[in-house]
Amino acid sequence: MTAAALRVGRDPGTVRLVAVSKKVPLERLQEAVDAGQRLFGENYLQEALEKINRLPPDISWHFIGHLQTNKAKLAASCFQAIETIDRLKLARTLDRHLMDLDRAMSVLIQVNIGREPQKSGVLPEEAEELLRGMADCSNLRVKGLMAMPPYFDDPEAARPFFRQLRHLAAELANKGLLGGHGPIELSMGMSGDFEVAIEEGATLVRVGTALFGPRP
Ligand SMILES: *Cc1c(COP(=O)(O)O)cnc(C)c1O
Repeated sequence: MTAAALRVGRDPGTVRLVAVSKKVPLERLQEAVDAGQRLFGENYLQEALEKINRLPPDISWHFIGHLQTNKAKLAASCFQAIETIDRLKLARTLDRHLMDLDRAMSVLIQVNIGREPQKSGVLPEEAEELLRGMADCSNLRVKGLMAMPPYFDDPEAARPFFRQLRHLAAELANKGLLGGHGPIELSMGMSGDFEVAIEEGATLVRVGTALFGPRP
């Protein structure tokens, strides 16, 4: 990660590692915690809750899976950030529960940057409308965008998608729709392509397999 940041003249301190721990047993997470890792990403709510309850309280948890609206209340109470906001109904419901809890939460908009029918996320041209709709969600801190490009064996093939996400974020910031809550976050890059993602501006890389080995 550091090498990739330095290659393009970025401060390595501006890129954070989200250790993606879905399906990884608690003991392996504990090893990562012992090694100093304090930021984890989970895809499944029930699984995440068990881990959150059993690991130290100074860990940040990002939700990176598909969030059903009827689970928003539970998610509101136990994550530091939700990276997968992709519809207004979910944003509004989450905001309402956060208000009840008197709590603010960082969120990212998930963008279906490769326009893949099987993937969640708004299409790039729909991000603006979603953000405008979320303007009155006062308990949500919209930090930036998250995306998962199509899978390629050659990580270079993902580069144009990472670049598109960065350009989209800049465009939305120009319209005053992003950047109101500190530096803009771009969550992009996984085990196979996080270096390319960092070269293209990722501030959060979500890495599972490269840290924990293949999932069961
Ligand atoms: C599983 C997952 C990852 C991590 O993938 P690896 O290839 O194991 O690094 C990253 N992001 C999301 C949204 C995931 O579901």
